[in-house]
Amino acid sequence: MKVQHNCPYCMQEQFKNSKSNFILTKVETKILDDSRIHYITCKKNHEYAVVISAAKYELLFDIGLTAFTDGYM
Ligand SMILES: [Zn+2]
Repeated sequence: MKVQHNCPYCMQEQFKNSKSNFILTKVETKILDDSRIHYITCKKNHEYAVVISAAKYELLFDIGLTAFTDGYM
């Protein structure tokens, strides 16, 4: 299963440097393992963590639905 995320530090820098009310960011993808806490380092070497608060059975259900939509029975 993959989770999509944005680096909060890069987003904060872009908001500070932008005079607009919105920014465009590239969404990164992280493949999940069995852990609920995923430590990520972005391309600018910002370190942060993505915490999955869902129960494991919810993740398994999502993984199952993703596999089903990919064509696996
Ligand atoms: Zn960053």
